[in-house]
Amino acid sequence: MAYKFVDNYRERGARKKLVEHLKARGIADTRVLQAIGKVPRHFFFDETFWNQAYKDIAFPIGDGQTISQPYTVAYQSELLHISKGDKVLEIGTGSGYQTCILMELGAEVYTIERQEGIYNHTIKVLPGMGYPAHFFFGDGSMGIASHAPYHKIIVTAGAPFVPEVLLKQLKIGGILVIPVGDENAQVMVTVIRISETEYEKFELDTFRFVPLVGDQAW
Ligand code: SAM
Repeated sequence: MAYKFVDNYRERGARKKLVEHLKARGIADTRVLQAIGKVPRHFFFDETFWNQAYKDIAFPIGDGQTISQPYTVAYQSELLHISKGDKVLEIGTGSGYQTCILMELGAEVYTIERQEGIYNHTIKVLPGMGYPAHFFFGDGSMGIASHAPYHKIIVTAGAPFVPEVLLKQLKIGGILVIPVGDENAQVMVTVIRISETEYEKFELDTFRFVPLVGDQAW
């Protein structure tokens, strides 16, 4: 794939329209909308498909995986309530688009991907775009214990249950956002760590993600 980091008026205009569309769909956090308005999503596409980059759709990135739909990225980002300097674990790096949005929100991102081809591609592309996250290769369903605890954890693939091991890697007051369900549909779940032993769980809207595959997953 040939990548061209050119952000011209056509793409900037399409990005503005995407932000308006997300606002109309209910995304209210202005910081999240600003981040979507800033990150050039077409950088994650081959130039042939730049006309698809600002549609509110997921898009194939190879190896059976997708760059998430902008609405889903905005929705999960909003639920995380990122503060500047938050240490965030992202499970399922994929294209790295969500990673960039988290970094635009001021997070320090630790991101893990289990597919080698995608991992090798994204670790090359993202720093070149100006987003030097901390990249890890492996099964993120176990979290990354060596860098825990985290202020926030986001899972960008559909899980069969909330892995206990991830809850333990949250700081007190920390938030986990994870889609949970079967292979057809997942409910967006947020869990807040109230204390050493207590958690509060909320179930929100339904989405469809690719599966989270691993030890504490499918
Ligand atoms: N948010 C990403 C983006 O915008 O490009 C999309 C992520 S894609 C929907 C989900 C990713 O999770 C895939 O790249 C998949 O390989 C990865 N994945 C699935 N199970 C995983 C696991 N146990 N650990 C790490 N990554 C995993």
